[in-house]
Amino acid sequence: MLNKYILYILLLGWISSSCSTSVSNNSSDNLEARADSVLALMTLEEKLGQLNLPVGGDITTGEAGSSDIAVSIKAGKVGGLFNLKSAEKIREIQRVAVEESRLKIPLLFGMDVIHGYETLFPIPLGLSSTWDMKLIEQSARIAAIEASADGINWTFSPMVDVSRDPRWGRVSEGNGEDPYLGAKIAKAMIQGYQGDDLTLANTIMACVKHFALYGAPEAGRDYNSVDMSRQRMFNEYFLPYQAAVEAGVGSVMTSFNDIDGIPASGNKWLMTDLLRDQWGFDGFVVTDYTAINEMIAHGMGDLQQVSALALNAGVDMDMVGEGFLTTLAKSLEEGKITKKQIDVAVKRMLIAKFRLGLFDDPYKYADPERSKNEIFNAEHRAIARNIAAQSLVLLKNEGDILPLQKKGTIALIGPMADNRENMAGTWSVAGRFAESVSLKDGLEKALGDQANIILARGANVVPDAEYEARVSIFGKPTYRDERSEDLLIKEAVAAANKSDVVLMAMGESAEMSGEAASRSDIEMPENQRKLMQALLDTGKPVVLVLFTGRPLAIKWESENVPAILNVWFAGSEAGDAIADVLFGDVNPSGKLTATFPQNVGQVPIFYNQKNTGRPLPDGEWFQKFRSNYLDVSNDPLYPFGYGLSYTQFEYGDIQISNKSLEGDRKLEVSIQIKNTGERDGLEVVQLYIRDLVASITRPVKELKGFEKVPLKAGETKTVKFELTKENLKFYNFDIDFVFEPGEFDIMVGPNSRDLKTARIEWK
Ligand code: BGC
Repeated sequence: MLNKYILYILLLGWISSSCSTSVSNNSSDNLEARADSVLALMTLEEKLGQLNLPVGGDITTGEAGSSDIAVSIKAGKVGGLFNLKSAEKIREIQRVAVEESRLKIPLLFGMDVIHGYETLFPIPLGLSSTWDMKLIEQSARIAAIEASADGINWTFSPMVDVSRDPRWGRVSEGNGEDPYLGAKIAKAMIQGYQGDDLTLANTIMACVKHFALYGAPEAGRDYNSVDMSRQRMFNEYFLPYQAAVEAGVGSVMTSFNDIDGIPASGNKWLMTDLLRDQWGFDGFVVTDYTAINEMIAHGMGDLQQVSALALNAGVDMDMVGEGFLTTLAKSLEEGKITKKQIDVAVKRMLIAKFRLGLFDDPYKYADPERSKNEIFNAEHRAIARNIAAQSLVLLKNEGDILPLQKKGTIALIGPMADNRENMAGTWSVAGRFAESVSLKDGLEKALGDQANIILARGANVVPDAEYEARVSIFGKPTYRDERSEDLLIKEAVAAANKSDVVLMAMGESAEMSGEAASRSDIEMPENQRKLMQALLDTGKPVVLVLFTGRPLAIKWESENVPAILNVWFAGSEAGDAIADVLFGDVNPSGKLTATFPQNVGQVPIFYNQKNTGRPLPDGEWFQKFRSNYLDVSNDPLYPFGYGLSYTQFEYGDIQISNKSLEGDRKLEVSIQIKNTGERDGLEVVQLYIRDLVASITRPVKELKGFEKVPLKAGETKTVKFELTKENLKFYNFDIDFVFEPGEFDIMVGPNSRDLKTARIEWK
């Protein structure tokens, strides 16, 4: 007994002294040894406690130490908590763990810091539309600085699920439909969160999610089944997750859906064979919220069975469900799992805590001084404003209505015109919604007394009050106006008639996208459409400022409204950023990362589709016995990569270094671009390839490069890309990653539709 006690004291002493300088001591051997030394001291109960992640959201400051959760922490039954906000609260809870539990193991504090902490950036779909990896990384860096100051050391981000289905509400949280772009963004986000040294007090651990294929639910209905060929998984969906692993992401979150009949959280092929054995992931795997328990409804057994299934698959931490905590001891006794499996999982959790430096200083992330100065400060908000402006996508600008002049009278109409809370968009746990800049705020600041604004509501978000209540949640009210539709329109038309130009702030509310916010109808709600028609009938110049968390089917708007600026939900500084673009202080440069369909029947629609054996001839939209629809062409409304500027860019011919190459040589591709307009601008130049003949069918286009180039008015630049054989590889039928020689089309242009092509042969 005495010996054991002495050993314990010695080891704890060693643990803390050996961690005081981080980087050099943080070699993987050291981490292993330290984790082993703690593991050796643990009871089975304490081990299972490390695998347990309860939600901590409703604990009040001051009472944290005496809360129910504190009782569990003292008993060593908690490995981490999430969605607790405030440095004080977190310090209080951490104190319970490191002073009042037997082994004094510090807790992880997680949060869904998805697109910023208090300073909110555009929703991820918007961020991706910047095509600017530096800015995206910067947004994650600021999110980490703010969250860590408040005690958070782990974020459930980035979400990298490729999605081709705008009915799915969570397209808003991802990076669109392309795996290549998604992989680049995954890397940028992880670099922003984790930096080069995870032990620093202002870097936090990232968690890539939702592994895997959560973005491909049948019918776009959230949590629904995924059934997919391996070829498609590897060639079209997996790349961003794999890139996250390569970037050193500290943790991975399982997805809710089943995949080819096995729920992800119980899927050994995914969590062990692929993630760890093939890709070399060395962090820990956490489930999504109660995902283990949900395997009961999936039909995989009772809580004991599904918990064992998850551990056997390679899951380390159980979010909220407590299946690990309450059933794994029994499964161990019955031989359904092994002690070694538990130890491996616990060790991964301990290593994560060592990597973060928590054993050295468990309070380092909750710093009241930093919390006061480094959160939602002027510097961060100015950066967020810039990034928000870069995320806006100009879809249409007939007759150059935009940019507007700062004069006269502007009618500002629509349910999103004067709504600060909704600017945040979905997933913004820590946001200060009431302090966001609404469009009205932004216009007023930009205009001062140079112009008048007349505000009118015009329409509710949707006609149906119950529907509206469902999308007016999480502190983001839509302020329903109970007056009749006709009355609202009448008032708006009167405002328009008194104005020189009409701004229609319409579309979705923030919570019409996001989790469990799938829509079967992705057109504009009919009451808003009616209002638009009435405003167009006034004959005034009209601009649609489109708020949305997904690609919408806005064919009617595209045909009838002269100017459309897609503004997503651009975060806490949205109103200022939109005003910057509306008045031309910033020239728009965002480009779509997800295709906008003509109607919902075309969904899923995406640019990197395969050809059929019966493709349409060029220039035709219908032919009998061809792959098409009777009632709509195959074309998207706005293709992937599309977005306009206030200036124009002229593309020269595509130049290639060689028509025929062999082996490991490099192909240089270049193109001249001229800014032919009168404003400076930024252009996202995109490079695609097509593999013309292969052992499996290949997409008609695949993004393989892009560059965002600044061009002054009148300036010409040559943009260069380099391709190697690696860029032409793909997973064949046997899921081998191969290069197959042959002919390839190399295409460059401003979007995935309008491309210049050169054909090469690579032997
Ligand atoms: C979501 C995750 C999120 C988790 C924790 C789940 O419902 O799917 O994306 O990280 O909750 O809040």
